[in-house]
This record gives sequence, structure tokens and C-alpha cells, in this order.
Amino acid sequence: MSRFMTFLKRGLLLRCPVCGKGHAFRSPFKMYERCPICNFRFEREEGYFSSSMAINLVISELIITAVVVPLAATPSIPLVPLLIIGAPMTVILPVLLYHHSHGLWMAMDHYLHPINTPGEYIADLDNQHLYR
Ligand SMILES: [Zn+2]
Repeated sequence: MSRFMTFLKRGLLLRCPVCGKGHAFRSPFKMYERCPICNFRFEREEGYFSSSMAINLVISELIITAVVVPLAATPSIPLVPLLIIGAPMTVILPVLLYHHSHGLWMAMDHYLHPINTPGEYIADLDNQHLYR
């Protein structure tokens, strides 16, 4: 399996991007601070997951656009029921995609900026007592 597919698989399965074994989420909307298996700190820097919100927004809006625009362009479909069903989707889809946008962001980040220097990981492990 290529390196890209490995990271993509780990991201979509919500696993640690470093070891691929540890779960990223402990409960529906709470992430582990560190991988339970390899102890890697998921949030590599402050504001790290703000990019996952952008991924979440883009994917949600693309899905809504792909579904709603063709339906709205069809004259035989009444507009009011379409709005009643479609408008809540703008809130529901980002909630449903919350986990996987985090996983995809970690996968993308680790693919583009891998831990190729042991210093980052070792320094992170050395400073783990600071985060407890
Ligand atoms: Zn791990």
C-alpha cells in the first residue's frame, strides 16, 4: 500500500497517523490528547485542528451543493419542502463529518509533514509531563 493510502486509511478509520493502531477519539466529540498506543500528541501545535474545520466545511458544502442544486433546478420539485429538508443539512452534515475531517486533516498533515526527524517525537515524549 502506498504511503498516501496508508495515511488516508488511518485518517478515515480515525486512527493515530503515526502508529495506525491507537484510536483518535475517546467519545463522540472528545479526542484523546495522545495516542493510547504510541503516546504521540495529536495536536502538533496550537490551533492545529482549525484546518480540519475548513475541510469539514468544504466537504459539507460540496455535498449540499451536489444534492440541492440539481433538485432546485428541477421545476417539478416544490421549493418549500426542499428548503425544509435541505436547510437543516447545513448543520447536520458538519456534525456528522466532525470526526472524519479531523482524521483527514491529521492524515494530510502527516503525509505532507511527516515525522522524519526523530527530534519532534522524542521532544514530544520528553515533554509529556508538561501536558498532564
Ligand atoms: Zn499512535
